[in-house]
Parts: sequence; C-alpha cells; structure tokens
Amino acid sequence: MATLYATPANDEPAWWFVVSADHIFLTHDGEVPFGQLNQLAFPDLAQYQVIEIGEIRERTCYLVMADYMDEQFKGGDFAPLRQLLRPDDMEIFEMAGRARQFSDFLNTHRFCGRCGTRMQSVEWELAMHCHQCQHRCYPRVSPCIIVAITKGEQLLLAQGKRHKAGLYSILAGFVEAGENLEQALKREVYEEAGIRVKNIQYHMSQPWSFPHSLMMGFTAEWDSGNLHIDPHELVTGDWFPINDLPQIPPQGTIARTLIDIAIKR
Ligand SMILES: [Zn+2]
Repeated sequence: MATLYATPANDEPAWWFVVSADHIFLTHDGEVPFGQLNQLAFPDLAQYQVIEIGEIRERTCYLVMADYMDEQFKGGDFAPLRQLLRPDDMEIFEMAGRARQFSDFLNTHRFCGRCGTRMQSVEWELAMHCHQCQHRCYPRVSPCIIVAITKGEQLLLAQGKRHKAGLYSILAGFVEAGENLEQALKREVYEEAGIRVKNIQYHMSQPWSFPHSLMMGFTAEWDSGNLHIDPHELVTGDWFPINDLPQIPPQGTIARTLIDIAIKR
C-alpha cells in the first residue's frame, strides 16, 4: 500500500479519521466525517500531520493526527472507537482501527529505540527511520489467537477482567515469540482453563486495534482435563449449554462469529 504524507485539496470529498489518543472524532450523528474540507468545520490542516491510509467506496481516507482532545475540530466530538462497531458497516470500523494504530505508532516512535536519535517518517511507506543508525520501524501488529471450544452441547465461556459486567466471551491470548498458532492456542487454553483441546480448526481473522492485535479465530473441541479457570486472567468461566448462553459479544466481533460457527456444528 502506498502510504503518503498528504496535503488534501480543499474540494476533495474524502473520509476524515481525526484521531486523538484512543479517541476518534465523530460528527454529532456519530459518524466519521465525510466531505470536502471547505464544507467541514475543521481547522487549517497545514498545522497537522495528515496521512493517506486507504480508500472506502472509492474515496480517500485520511488520518489526521490531532492534539489531545483537540478543540479546534467543530461539528462533533471525540469518542471511543468502539462506538463505530456496527455489524452492518465493518469497513468504517476497520479503517478507524487502522487510523488509530498508525496514530499510536507515530506517537510512540519519535525516537530511535537503538540509538535514541529523533526518527523521521518515511515518505513512501508507513515507517519511521533513524538516519543515524539506519534502524527502521513499522507499525506493530500483535498476533492473537481466539478460540471457541465446545464439549458436546456445551460451550466454554469466560468473563475477562476487562470485560464489562455480565459479558462472557471465548478464550483469547497473545502469541509468544517463537510459537506457532497451534502451540499458542494449546498453551493459552491450558493456562486459562486447565484443559486440553483437539480438532483445532482455523476459520478467519480480524484486526482488532485495542491496541494492535490481529485476532486469528479458531474452533476446537474439549479433549481432556477438568475446567480450572485462571484467576489472574479471568473473573469466572464455565461450560454453558449452547441453547442457553449468557450475554455474549455483539455481531460484528470475531468472538461472536466463532461462537455462531461453533454452536451450529
Ligand atoms: Zn538509531
């Protein structure tokens, strides 16, 4: 992908992903601003870093690196990214996630991790480069496994410490350095739930920008072991009858899609 540091024209209809820390600027209707700069209540973008990050419906998407809760942008408010999570329009949510990840990357790579010199952005790809020692950094992507595990007519669900009250989901965890996906999956499931699984099947992936994960989705079946929920990572967890599940993640999330696949088998 050609990623360019852009100076958009005033009359170009485009998507504007204005990012400030973990938040994104949404119109009062809760949408990502779309339109021409000369019709939007935005400040002069010459004072901001603007980066071309892709296209939606043949219109360019721009990331604008705003200041913390920047008050110069009018006609809306900064809101958490999750407000864009809508099953009927994942394209916008995923582009917003990309914008957020790039913004986070640029903000955390101002200085070289090897020699400490100030880094420069690369014009033709999304990277930061150190001209002192030639170290180059790219946005971090952290692979994560997520797995829906069934045992007969039951599904394993757990409440994570960061989940909102009452919400149950399937097990997930980061891949460690040197592991393949299957090893990571077996280790995570054993660590978090004390069980062994079999018939591991890969289904799909989804970028998840909280903060820079790439979720890789599997289903698996219980093989052996008694459930033992790890209290360090999870609040509670259990086998639930597939026709009587508690509150689970909404449509559009990979967790929900995997649950739907697992219980329809
Ligand atoms: Zn360096």
